[in-house]
Amino acid sequence: MPNCPNCNSKDVVKNGFIHNGNQNHKCKACGRQFVEAPRQKLISEETKALIDKLLLEKIPLAGIARVCDVSETWLQNYVNRKYEAIPQQVNVSAKKKGRLTIQCDEMWSFVGNKGNKQWIWLAIDVDTREIVGVHIGESLRTRSAKALEFFAQCLSSVCCCLYRFLECI
Ligand SMILES: [Zn+2]
Repeated sequence: MPNCPNCNSKDVVKNGFIHNGNQNHKCKACGRQFVEAPRQKLISEETKALIDKLLLEKIPLAGIARVCDVSETWLQNYVNRKYEAIPQQVNVSAKKKGRLTIQCDEMWSFVGNKGNKQWIWLAIDVDTREIVGVHIGESLRTRSAKALEFFAQCLSSVCCCLYRFLECI
């Protein structure tokens, strides 16, 4: 039987169970009720490595906690620490200067509901397939001020551009 954490008396009896099924105790000397201090459970590096892999899958945290036998609270804190350690700024590598060919693809989609048809324009660097601009809204074929602004943004950092946009309007 553990000693009382309050008065250190050995005069301790079992006193039922607490909500999670752990044994409750009562000190007969001072009346203090207590549960034996939970042993600090060390989570092994192997378990952490497995958790790191599972986190890359679309598995709910509760599922990972069950399979790896860790508490959801511990897992949430573990994930939070990982997120905090990730740099919030993305380092974009400088592009080589020169000719950039941009391809613009237009598609449309309903956004939110069937009545809300929106056009989606992607400006894509033909060489790297990187998306360099996105426009969601009205069709750019209207040649509205917004459409022209979008292209100005896409092309602002570019010295020389060829784009298929002009071909398709
Ligand atoms: Zn006591």
